[in-house]
Amino acid sequence: MQLSRALGGAISAAASHALDLALPARCSGCGREGEPLCRSCARALDARLELPGGVPIGMPAELPAPLLQLEWCAPFAGPVRAALHDLKYRGERRLARPLGLAVARRWGRVGVGASVVVPVPVHAERERRRGYDQAALIAEVAATALGIPQRRALERERATTAQFRLGRADRAANVAGAFRVRPAGGQVAGHWVLLVDDVVTTGATLAACATVLVHAGAIGVSAITVARER
Ligand SMILES: [Zn+2]
Repeated sequence: MQLSRALGGAISAAASHALDLALPARCSGCGREGEPLCRSCARALDARLELPGGVPIGMPAELPAPLLQLEWCAPFAGPVRAALHDLKYRGERRLARPLGLAVARRWGRVGVGASVVVPVPVHAERERRRGYDQAALIAEVAATALGIPQRRALERERATTAQFRLGRADRAANVAGAFRVRPAGGQVAGHWVLLVDDVVTTGATLAACATVLVHAGAIGVSAITVARER
C-alpha cells in the first residue's frame, strides 16, 4: 500500500515534471509567459544584495547557536514568496536556477568561509512524493556557481510538523533530534559547512542541522536561505 502510493507519487511527479518542461514557463511573480521568474520580478531576489553581511537584524542573540553566520537574500514576500511556493508545491523546478543563483550572489558578497554546501533535507518520503527536494536543487545551483562542492550530508529522521503551524517556542522542540548525518555521503568532518534552505523564520531548523554537523566533526556551520519570514 505504502509502496504503491510512493510509486504513484513518483510517477505523477515525473509526469508533471515532463509536462512542465514541455510547456513554456510562466513567471511566478506576474504570470507573464517566458521565464519561470521574469527579469523584473527576479530583481526582488536581490533586495538585500547591497546590505552589509554578518549582522542579523535585531539583537546579535538572534543568531541561533551554533551558527556562525546567517544570511538570506530577500524578505519572504511578493515574487520571492510566489517563486518559493511554485518550486515547492507546483513542481516548477526551473525556479531552482534563479533562486540558487541569488543565493550564490548574496553569499559571494558577504559570506565568510565555507568549504562544502549542505542542503537542509526534507523527509525522504516527502521527497519521493514530490520527486525532488527543493532545498537540494537550490543548493546545487548555488554550490556550482560558488565553486564549492555540495554534499547531501543530512537526512531527516522523522517527519516533523510544518514549522509554520507552530508558535515560536514550539519550533525548536519540533526539530530537535529530527536530523542526522547520513551514514554514507557525510564527510563533513574538518569542513566549514554552508547550510542552504529555502526559507528561515526563527532559525530553529538550521540550528538543529548545525548541531548534528558539529557533532559529526564540522569545524563550523554557517547558513543562507533564499528568504526570511518574520
Ligand atoms: Zn514577473
